[in-house]
Amino acid sequence: MVISIVLGLVLMVVYCSFAEWFVHRYGMHTQRLSKWAFRRHAIQHHSQRRSLKTFYSPDIYKIWQSSAIPLLWLLHTPLYLLIGFVTNQNVGIGAAIGAGLYVSSYEVLHFFIHTPRNYWFQRTRLFHFYCEYHRVHHHRAKWNYNVVCPLADAVMGTFSLADMPVEPSLPNTMPRHTGPRSVFGQGAGRAVGAEATASLDPEPVPAGRE
Ligand SMILES: [Zn+2]
Ligand SMILES: [Zn+2]
Repeated sequence: MVISIVLGLVLMVVYCSFAEWFVHRYGMHTQRLSKWAFRRHAIQHHSQRRSLKTFYSPDIYKIWQSSAIPLLWLLHTPLYLLIGFVTNQNVGIGAAIGAGLYVSSYEVLHFFIHTPRNYWFQRTRLFHFYCEYHRVHHHRAKWNYNVVCPLADAVMGTFSLADMPVEPSLPNTMPRHTGPRSVFGQGAGRAVGAEATASLDPEPVPAGRE
């Protein structure tokens, strides 16, 4: 039983990584699927939370301003039932739990990435990595579409650990990282700190994508 649930859960985490990538890449950064989602995310969120300006702020971003992504969990109910039907019931339950954990993680992570409050988990290396990984996305919107699990970014060729200058809006409770690699003592962060020079791909982002 436990193995079946874990199997369903792992399967769904893999699926959700790709679903997150497609929703973020095409649903939130183009107008192909929804003008509302594009306006809300690519225009409003990315301009309010621009990297190297206002990426961090404890006040502006409220939890209820988060995305409609949890609705996608509900919309996938037929998929959990189908998985349970073609395999067994416990795999279907695991799939529903896995998808639920993934969408919840997306909301919680994305909220706290932009809202530094010095909670214990916000002082962990893993969380700092999540912050720097997402900061790259807010600097160049063609990289790092995944917030939770970067598997799809790696497979789809949008995975970036580029070095960046220290975030000016960084609170003094957080270490002065200079990109995802610097969290683990690699990249520009080790040597140059605040004066790090951005080594991101200089190619301009097409209008409306950042
Ligand atoms: Zn985005
Ligand atoms: Zn964001």
